[in-house]
Amino acid sequence: MEKISVIVPCFNEQEALPLFYIEICKVAEALKQLEFEFIFIDDGSKDNTAEIMKELNGQDPRVHYVSFSRNFGKEAAIYAGLKKSIGDYVVLMDVDLQDPPALIHTMYDNIKNDGYDCVATRRVNREGEPKIRSFFAKCFYKLMNKISSTEFVDGARDYRMMKRQMVDAVLEMSEYNRFSKGIFSWVGFRVKWLEYVNEQRVAGETKWSFWKLFLYSLDGIIAFSTIPLTIASYIGILFCFVAFILIIFIIVKTMIWGDMTSGWPSLFCIISLIGGLQMLCIGVLGHYLSRTYLESKKRPIYIVKEEK
Ligand code: UDP
Ligand code: MG
Repeated sequence: MEKISVIVPCFNEQEALPLFYIEICKVAEALKQLEFEFIFIDDGSKDNTAEIMKELNGQDPRVHYVSFSRNFGKEAAIYAGLKKSIGDYVVLMDVDLQDPPALIHTMYDNIKNDGYDCVATRRVNREGEPKIRSFFAKCFYKLMNKISSTEFVDGARDYRMMKRQMVDAVLEMSEYNRFSKGIFSWVGFRVKWLEYVNEQRVAGETKWSFWKLFLYSLDGIIAFSTIPLTIASYIGILFCFVAFILIIFIIVKTMIWGDMTSGWPSLFCIISLIGGLQMLCIGVLGHYLSRTYLESKKRPIYIVKEEK
């Protein structure tokens, strides 16, 4: 009998978790030809999430859980889940039921019968989300596709089903700064995209603030593009060129009309502009360097407090 692992990262989800469990059991009921395992990852929750997981584990042998020693972030939770999973197929989904569990049927069908290695999902709208957030998300995807050779699909969710072979490929990428959307795309394989309309969270609140999303997008850019470094050096070249022209201009001007000490304000502006750009470029460099620094420490991606 083929096995399917469902991986569910949870961070302070005591309200949503029981509701999710009911729904996923319905799916398992309908897909009788498959053996299910549910892997819940408690990403350092401060509420009763871990207790609920233990309880479910007690009553249902299909339920497993991993409890982190603190909040390591969704990316770490995904990695831990993938590592623990043993299924021939692996489904990754959120606990808040924003990822419709019923799609698992279609996913399985597409992989089993149509020869896909992975079925991924994307939201076709962003209703219920702040307008400004949608705007920046759109900009981010446009930018990423311009500056990175990895493809980024607008509205792509983490909700997907993968074959074991693809899961193993993802696990090979054991980098510390993880940006799953890029990693899934980078490993390749035949991917089918399913589209669905955005659903509201069933309970609880979103764990992503605007600032958290902004930092996450920076992670994505730095992990999958080195164009910012190239741009920094182009700016440097451009300014050297302008400075060179200006020097020639000033020498010629002084030789013809003599030295007139005027133009200090403009000089000041140019100096501060160049100074600012230099700082910016050093900053860009620093971001890459700091990521390299973190990778070189080879810290674990997560620390397990308890698992079953
Ligand atoms: N999540 C997590 N660790 C975190 C933040 C979120 O494991 O640090 C989980 C969360 O419990 C949920 C999923 O990731 O199952 C998606 O989070 P959320 O619904 O808050 O994100 P949104 O759907 O608003 O993008
Ligand atoms: Mg959500």
